[in-house]
Amino acid sequence: MALPGMKRILLKLSGEALMGSSPFGIDPETVASMAAEVKEAKDRGLEICLVIGGGNIFRGMAGAAKGMDRAQADYMGMLATVMNALAMQNALEQLGVETRVQSAIEMDKVCEPVIRRRAERHMEKGRVVIFAAGVGAPYFTTDSGAALRAAEMKCDALLKGTSVDGVYNADPKKDPSAVRYDTLSYDRVLADNLKVMDASAVALCRDNHIPIVVFNIREPGNLARVLAGEGVSTVVGD
Ligand code: UDP
Repeated sequence: MALPGMKRILLKLSGEALMGSSPFGIDPETVASMAAEVKEAKDRGLEICLVIGGGNIFRGMAGAAKGMDRAQADYMGMLATVMNALAMQNALEQLGVETRVQSAIEMDKVCEPVIRRRAERHMEKGRVVIFAAGVGAPYFTTDSGAALRAAEMKCDALLKGTSVDGVYNADPKKDPSAVRYDTLSYDRVLADNLKVMDASAVALCRDNHIPIVVFNIREPGNLARVLAGEGVSTVVGD
């Protein structure tokens, strides 16, 4: 699939993408290099919005596994995504990129609430909108948040930046014979339970015909290459 020609994209970064080589938390140098990639893509004339996960700080499932109430733990996870969003906003603004953070959990001292029409206006003005707190409800993930925002912002594609260069038939970090798919259908992803995004996110993209592009964000310059249709990725589509 040719990515050139796309006007508006949503980039989903997992929280882990902000850790760099640290085992936990936010590595400012890594966030700065991610921000530089976003700026480069924006400078090519793309409209970009971002969704950032929180797994580098807290995941609800991990809390629940240790005996916490799942919903309570999920709210903590959502708060973690707000911290990551603020870190990315800071890094983008240091590069001169105008941004707005909109959170699905209102906290008006630090960011705007999610208001679609306002987000639309920001993007028309060339600002990068960072959507935080996922869908704003427990038992969801930021993948679902990314699919939801990509649909409501009418994005041409959802780019999922991960630590592998696409979707494989087995875990490439464990099985050297694992094969990467160039393209996949949504239905195949769901039927084979392939690890792209969680099922609700994939179904939302399928129902709204939003291609999902899975690529390695840890490799410098990769976002630009993928957007130019040159990088290695797996494209999930109709
Ligand atoms: N979360 C949630 N609802 C949402 C989005 C996130 O409850 O709509 C919580 C959930 O506990 C999740 C955590 O926030 O584990 C961090 O998000 P996620 O695991 O998606 O982050 P990522 O894996 O992308 O870093």
